[in-house]
Amino acid sequence: MIPFSPPRIDQKVIDEVVDTLKSGWITTGPKTKEFERRLTAYCGNKATLAVNSNTVGLEVVLRWFGVQEGDEVIVPAYTYCATANVIVHCGAKPVMVDVNADDFDVCLEKVREAITDKTKVIMPVDLGGMPCAYDELFELVEAEDVKTLFQAKTEEQRKLGRILILSDSAHSIGAEYKGRKAGCLADVSVFSFHAVKNLTTAEGGAIMLNLPEPFDNEEVYRYLCTYTLHGQNKDALAKTKRGAWRYDVLVSGFKGNMTDIMASIGLVELSRYEDDTLHYRKCIYDQYTDAFARYGWAELPIYETEDRKSSYHVYCLRVKGITEQQRDEIIQRIFDKDVSVNVHFQPLPLLSAFKNKGYKIEDYPVAYDNYCREISLPVWYGLSEEMVKTVIDAVICSVEEVLA
Ligand SMILES: *Cc1c(COP(=O)(O)O)cnc(C)c1O
Repeated sequence: MIPFSPPRIDQKVIDEVVDTLKSGWITTGPKTKEFERRLTAYCGNKATLAVNSNTVGLEVVLRWFGVQEGDEVIVPAYTYCATANVIVHCGAKPVMVDVNADDFDVCLEKVREAITDKTKVIMPVDLGGMPCAYDELFELVEAEDVKTLFQAKTEEQRKLGRILILSDSAHSIGAEYKGRKAGCLADVSVFSFHAVKNLTTAEGGAIMLNLPEPFDNEEVYRYLCTYTLHGQNKDALAKTKRGAWRYDVLVSGFKGNMTDIMASIGLVELSRYEDDTLHYRKCIYDQYTDAFARYGWAELPIYETEDRKSSYHVYCLRVKGITEQQRDEIIQRIFDKDVSVNVHFQPLPLLSAFKNKGYKIEDYPVAYDNYCREISLPVWYGLSEEMVKTVIDAVICSVEEVLA
């Protein structure tokens, strides 16, 4: 069976983890701080906080910005549940909007229509690794009429004076928009380093701060550092200093810190990410695209345009004109040929937690159409040319069997 997305665990990763285990320091410490510095250097943002998931990262940023009951946060209907769950946790309302038919990203026109005087944050998702249209999003939130509508309730909201753009960049580390890297495209972006993501630390994530003046990103970093460690003003390493046992708890915080064991995997992953991992993934994408371009039924994902470059995270193939049942049948047949595939994503209104809140899939026709014709193909480091051929043959055979 060809797996969908196994992690790349080789001797280098194992050695680095063992080095941490033997060092006597396994939780947040020097390797986590080094990982943060290297992420900042790679992405070009202003400050980086490593955390233990993308989800906790998104949530603490919403809470730092003061998102609460009565507020609205705009999200695409086509994303993973975490993007909207964190809004619900804060007591605010996820306002879902439809997506684009071409690149799966959030539809700007729909975002514009969804803005009200309650909107505090827009959360674009770089789906599959393709960056959203950030210039246009910023143009939108900086427009005079939209700024006038904005009702600041907290110090941070007054300071920004407009809607915050918080990117769910779970897929897009390494992606580029107009020559700039994901991580510095929004006010704040949050990566995921979950086991199936392009760059993994088993579980993990990073809050990429890139707030404009007059914010002091270092100060926000220090606040979030405390906030993701119970609100405690000293971390475990600082407390080991001679006689430095006393600490204070400044706010009732979260537990979201990254450990040095995780960071050691991340350091190795990052050191070979741009030239090795991304290059490898792009080659797989190109092989799929070359093969499927010959078939009239294939709708290929866009992963490179004049001003955008994907991180090649999910190869979202679509089959033209099929129903959800036909797609499911095709997937079954692909699995029967010993190839693992997936679907990214079930639009949120299809899931009980959101359906029960009154969201209706009928309101998101593009998201539904993207979903019911979508099949995500395996892309991972080590997937050989021969295996890619096996995947391609399995897909072509299965589609033709079902369409016959
Ligand atoms: C994986 C994923 C997340 C959640 O990431 P975690 O690190 O597991 O919290 C959020 N959003 C999207 C779009 C994802 O794919």
